[in-house]
Amino acid sequence: MRQPMEEIKVSISRTKLAIDFPASFMLIASMNPYPCRFYNHPEKNCSCPPGSVTKYLNKISGPLLDRIDLHVEVTPVAFSHLTSTHIQEGSFEIRKRVVQARNLQDLRFKHKKGIYSNAQMESADLKKICSLNNESQTLIKKTMEQLNLSARAYDRILKVSRTIADLETSEEILSSHVAEAIHFRNLDREGWGG
Ligand SMILES: [Zn+2]
Repeated sequence: MRQPMEEIKVSISRTKLAIDFPASFMLIASMNPYPCRFYNHPEKNCSCPPGSVTKYLNKISGPLLDRIDLHVEVTPVAFSHLTSTHIQEGSFEIRKRVVQARNLQDLRFKHKKGIYSNAQMESADLKKICSLNNESQTLIKKTMEQLNLSARAYDRILKVSRTIADLETSEEILSSHVAEAIHFRNLDREGWGG
């Protein structure tokens, strides 16, 4: 699984032959709920013994988790939210923002062969394209230290921050964009058995 995620190809080698199969894909995966279902529950308490959250998280390997850009925890929806009349942004509006962000990225990488999105950005371009102001730098440094994040996770936070900024058509990556990107590393966070 790691090779196609990292190199976007699958290599099969036999004694007489080695072939690379292109494998560009988007991985979307889900985990079964935590067994007692009350961990991080907004209204109920989890009384599981220590270590059981780590055991649950260990079902997915660290290196694989590291390569997943967005972790989203789905917690139960409170009744008040279900019945809320608050109007949320619809799919049509969201689509418009996504198309706009994609166009920005097309333009950004027009001279880079085979690169169409922030996620594909090479490490050499990170510093230039994802430059951070002082406030954002401090925030990301503190997070790296607190959560003991890998260099790979750091790169992914930067790229996701760039995409969040693109979705808001913001030229600069603001600390709010970085904070949102960090939030998407949900399973690295202390709230999940850290
Ligand atoms: Zn529990």
